[in-house]
Amino acid sequence: MKPNQHYQNVKDSYLFYHIAQKTKAYLEAHPDQKLYRMGIGDVSLPLAPCVIAALHEGVEDQATKANFHGYMPECGAAFLRKAIAKHYQKRGVMLNDDEVFVSSGASDELGDLLGIFDTNQTVMILEPAYPAYVDANLMRGNTIIHRNAGLDNGFLPMPDRSQKADIIYICSPNNPTGAVYSAAQLKEWVDYANDIGAVIFFDAAYEAFIEDPDLPHSIFEIEGARTCAIEICSLSKTAGFTGTRCGYTILPKTLEREGMNLHAMWVRNRTTTTNGISYILQKGAAAVFSDEGQRQVAELIAVYKNNAKVLMAALDQLGIRYFGGVNAPYIWLQCPNGMDSWSIFDLLLNEIQVVGTPGEGFGPCGEGYFRFSTFGDPEDTKVAAQRILDLLSK
Ligand code: PLP
Repeated sequence: MKPNQHYQNVKDSYLFYHIAQKTKAYLEAHPDQKLYRMGIGDVSLPLAPCVIAALHEGVEDQATKANFHGYMPECGAAFLRKAIAKHYQKRGVMLNDDEVFVSSGASDELGDLLGIFDTNQTVMILEPAYPAYVDANLMRGNTIIHRNAGLDNGFLPMPDRSQKADIIYICSPNNPTGAVYSAAQLKEWVDYANDIGAVIFFDAAYEAFIEDPDLPHSIFEIEGARTCAIEICSLSKTAGFTGTRCGYTILPKTLEREGMNLHAMWVRNRTTTTNGISYILQKGAAAVFSDEGQRQVAELIAVYKNNAKVLMAALDQLGIRYFGGVNAPYIWLQCPNGMDSWSIFDLLLNEIQVVGTPGEGFGPCGEGYFRFSTFGDPEDTKVAAQRILDLLSK
């Protein structure tokens, strides 16, 4: 047996695991302290009432012979695929129901989708980035081109035609910077990908946080995307499904490379390597796309947006420059007083028990920045904002 040698190229500790270890050590040394967690982007509010009702219904169905469901279709229940396609239609994106694949979340898909690509691919990652992009590709032995986002490009790097890649990861709204591509900017990426034969992995996990009506929620709002893009989406942040687990991927039937149809390949992959998502979860997920579901999840999102306002007000008072927080649930701030990002992590943890995420964890160009998640408990967020104000205005 020969283990996958590429694992030797992956850093020992995943960013959020490292943060969890540091906070655990702090709590062991200070058992009486309460932490204000604004590090990992995990939600703090319970599921919407209509989702809970649908989950209960699903459980009741499983209790009767008439309504019981066994194995579900591998690519997703017809009722959920239809509900998601209809949701896209409201934005003017026409999809066939079977271009929607129900998943157990975006993380799983971001790694699993690589299974329909050859090994030794060249992958372009726009950094700072969600760390799983880099790690999933290193594990497969792919070559990574790191493109830096920063102040010079408004955290929105644009294609450089001198560079070639097989796969391009675009996350918009971006984790961690909160930057969102405009339709015109995405059109440039789509044209570039079509010209060089690349496939875009468009991570739309945070699309529900977009407020600006002119910003695109889906890459399929852009002409030409059906021949170059796969969209990976999740109910984790849209509807509080981080622990419930359900997402979806849009892979158009028109996506082909070298005479092979990627949609057909993904169907082949799913029907081999999964047995679908539980009926009960898909019932709950479908409720999110009902009119009432959309209203209720918008209420949850409004709570997180208020957290963002509380944190941004504190940063404004301190004169700290930051990005995001409006069309995205993350605030990306410049580390104050010339500190590096792990030093401010340690300072906030040790002095005021506030946990954020060091920018360096999202790639070297994230050094000098720090990320706050706005998914925390509203009362905790208020206390944390006050503590940040008190500490940093000293
Ligand atoms: N993509 C991005 C950019 C994320 O930030 C996250 C989670 O934080 C995910 C994907 C994973 O989402 P899921 O919970 O659906 O696996």
